[in-house]
Amino acid sequence: MVPDWLQPPQPMNVFCAILGHTWVPAAENPKTAWNTDGTGLTLKATPSATPRFFEECARCKERRPVAPRLVPGQAAGRKPQA
Ligand SMILES: [Zn+2]
Repeated sequence: MVPDWLQPPQPMNVFCAILGHTWVPAAENPKTAWNTDGTGLTLKATPSATPRFFEECARCKERRPVAPRLVPGQAAGRKPQA
């Protein structure tokens, strides 16, 4: 048996090596727990974590962070059209 430190790193998908990664937007939205408050009449949301947005390769599932995108017309330093 080969020890872990001798194992090669995760081999890159051959198509990714030739064509490059195909990045697609992806999001991870942790579940939100909904429980009643003390009165039993009102639901209270308890998010487990904030949603994360990233890009993922469609073939090899490699992930990379992505900067938040600006909505056209709301770019920094640009005034809204009158
Ligand atoms: Zn890839």
